[in-house]
Amino acid sequence: MTKHTAAQLAALLAAVGIGCSLATTLADADLHPLVVVACTAAVFSAVLSLALDLVARLATRTFRCPRCAFTVRAQHTDAGESRRWQEIAADHPRHLGDSRA
Ligand SMILES: [Zn+2]
Repeated sequence: MTKHTAAQLAALLAAVGIGCSLATTLADADLHPLVVVACTAAVFSAVLSLALDLVARLATRTFRCPRCAFTVRAQHTDAGESRRWQEIAADHPRHLGDSRA
């Protein structure tokens, strides 16, 4: 299991935990079962979406050219890949806004 897969699994488990907690709280509140299901599903999907987005953002690295606005974003890079992307971003063939190229 990779680190990213473990983080996704943790996000899913967090969403399930919050959803179950909400479902038991709402079930005690004498609400119609469909209201409980709708609220639980809404909160579960919102928490899962937010957590997975956070996991993706944490796994993303940004490499910028020091001479222009050229940017590369890569996910799940190891040290060698990061170095390679850093060199590519710094030495791309045509710098943005460079009229000489
Ligand atoms: Zn550049």
